[in-house]
This record gives sequence, C-alpha cells and structure tokens, in this order.
Amino acid sequence: MSRILEEIRQRARESGIDPGGLDDIDVIRTGSGVLSELPGYLKDKGIQNILMITDKDTYECAGQRVEVMLKPVFAGVHLTMLKEDTKGDVLADEPSLLQVILDIQKHAPQIVLAVGSGTVHDITRYAAYTAGLSFVAVPTASSVDGFTSKGAPIIIRGEKITVQSIGPSAVFADTDILTKAPAALAAAGFGDMLGKYTSLFDWKFGSIAAGEPYMELAADLTRSALQNCVDHVGQIASRSEEGIHILTEALIQSGLAMLLCGQSHPASGAEHHVSHYWEMEYIRMGKKQLLHGAKVGAACVEISRLYQRLAAEGPDPWSYEASAGSGETGKAASVYVHWNDIASELARLPDSGTLSDLLRKVGGPASPKELGISHDLLERSMKDAHRIRMNRYTMLRANNERNREQTWSLHSASGK
Ligand SMILES: [Zn+2]
Repeated sequence: MSRILEEIRQRARESGIDPGGLDDIDVIRTGSGVLSELPGYLKDKGIQNILMITDKDTYECAGQRVEVMLKPVFAGVHLTMLKEDTKGDVLADEPSLLQVILDIQKHAPQIVLAVGSGTVHDITRYAAYTAGLSFVAVPTASSVDGFTSKGAPIIIRGEKITVQSIGPSAVFADTDILTKAPAALAAAGFGDMLGKYTSLFDWKFGSIAAGEPYMELAADLTRSALQNCVDHVGQIASRSEEGIHILTEALIQSGLAMLLCGQSHPASGAEHHVSHYWEMEYIRMGKKQLLHGAKVGAACVEISRLYQRLAAEGPDPWSYEASAGSGETGKAASVYVHWNDIASELARLPDSGTLSDLLRKVGGPASPKELGISHDLLERSMKDAHRIRMNRYTMLRANNERNREQTWSLHSASGK
C-alpha cells in the first residue's frame, strides 16, 4: 500500500538503522484517485469526528470535495478555514495557530485533516501536536518537502522558529488535484528539491569540519530524490501527471529522510537559512510573502556561487595563521586539515549557471534578482543568515566567521 514507506523501512533495517522515526506513519498514497481511499482509512481507525483545516483557495480546489466525501460517512465533519492577513497571506503565526486550537477545543475532533499546501500543513501539524492529536496530510500542491516532516516552521512575534512536533499519520497525495495547482507552486517544489544540492553538501561539511552527526542512508535517499527530479525536469515543467507524481514522491522521500534521522539536516542547509532570513525581512517590512521553494531555489544558486568560489580559492585562506583569532579558530583549522575531503564534496556541486538553468526550465525565478530580492538584502543575508541556526556548521557560517576573525585579527594587529 505504501511503497515508498516500505522501501525505506527495509533499507533502514538492512543498514542497521532503527526506522522508528517513521513509526507514526501508517499510510502514504500517491497517484491518481488516491483521495478516494481517505474515508476507508479514517473508518478503519475508528474515527467519527474530524476537523478539516483549509484556506480559501485549498477549500475550493480540494477541501470542498473532501467535505462532500466525508460528510455522509462520519458523524462529525467540521471545517476551519484559515484567515488571511492584511496582505492576503495565510501565515503559520499566532493568530492562525490559535484559530485552529480554538476550533479543536470547540469540536473535540479525534483527528485533524490538513488540506492544503505547506503552510496549512505547518499550522495543522503544530496545532494537532499541541492538542495531542494526530493529523492526516492531503497536499494540494507539490510545493514543499515538509508534508512528511516533524519540523513545524512557525512565526512567533515576527521571528521564524522551527519546532519539532509530529509527522502525519497518513498522506493522500492525489495527482488529480496536484496537477491542477498553479505552475508557480510546482516550480517552487522543484526549487525546494534543488536546494538539496547545497543542503547535502553543508551536512557533509558539518560532519567533516565539526563532527556533526551524519547518516549515509538519509543522504542517499535525499540525493536520489533530487536526482530523479533533475532527470525528469521536462515532465515536471510540463506538469504532466507523471512529472507531478515524480516531484511529489521526491518531496515526500526528502521529508521521510528527515524523519528517519530525526532532524532536518539532509534537507536544510545554508540555502534554507538564507531563505528564512528573507522571509523574516519581508515580515518585518510588511511585504507579501514569496513562496518557500522559490526562495530556496534562488538562494541555492547564490550559495553554490559562493561555494564554487571557495573551492577555487583552495585551503590556504583556512590555514592556522590566517584564521588565528578567537573562538572558532579550531573549526576553521579543521576545514584546513580536512580540505581534500571538503574539496571532493564541493566538486559534486553543480555551478550556479546550471542551477539557474534548471530553475528556468520549470518556469521558476532563476536568481534572487528575478525573485525580487534587493541587492542589499542579498548581501546582508549572505553575511548573517547562518545566525538563524547556530546549531549547524554550514560552509556559509564557516566562511563568515573566518572573515570576521581575520578582520578582527587585522584590526588588533594594527592596534585599531
Ligand atoms: Zn524547504
């Protein structure tokens, strides 16, 4: 019934890895018409009272259909339609979370149903977790890889934080619905996948330079999902049933890789930190939000450009003397010592032009400029975005800390 899930569980056991991170998921169904299996799944679980979460758009494209399907079968089918903010955005912020939590208290459902794209899932995931309920994912667009992850990126007082909560108990990703989603959303999903080039590099970098935990299987699963998208970029661009199916399964597989290793390392590196930086800036400025995957794709292009430059500069800038300064010297020295390993990982990264071309093929913005990110914001984010996740040692962070220490050393040497 759930081919992807079974395959990954099997591979985990063969590699001696406990697949316990996937235990909460009963079913993952992808393909044409799979939504019709939803009532049977809920009945088998003994569910009678359901709260469905949508926004205005996702209610129209799928929510209404789900409601009509469930109402004759279940005693209680309630609906929370998430409200938009003044910019027309539905955000995973305090008002949205409270809206769902209040409806959970009012209707006392046994399960919550997320019918929508990434944000609807993040709100539902966190609200269900808070109430001690499980949730079912019904994605309406192949736009992000977060459907099957535990991390809920939420916005509290304008700051984006990611809270570990719960994964879905089931996923029904119906390509009849997903192929009808706007082209920009599929392009964004492709951008979120393309970002795995740099996230996978950063994960390996963190393990080499800072001893961060690494899981080969989770990296392999993420890499093969990424490769499958790149190999089928034409079908994804045309949003054929096959193309959207491939993209959807890749996004789900990437999410499962995160669940398997218990954190978002395989799928989120410097490109995600830069994208979060832009998002917070847009919130501060009261600007309408950009799609997550569109930001990740464009940020990946910039991170790749930086990393290619660092590869060309070689190990010398990381040498002991050059990096002599304060606290992070040890890590910079570690980059120097392990340069050969790091360089061979850097060699696997496509150059920024290739990444831009891939994004252009699916019709997405192919650079921060095309996305509307100002030069000033881009510069600031490339210098400071690593501060968003200080528990990760990305090459962006290493480079920024090294640059700061070298400036500091120069200043102290010259008595400034
Ligand atoms: Zn992402």
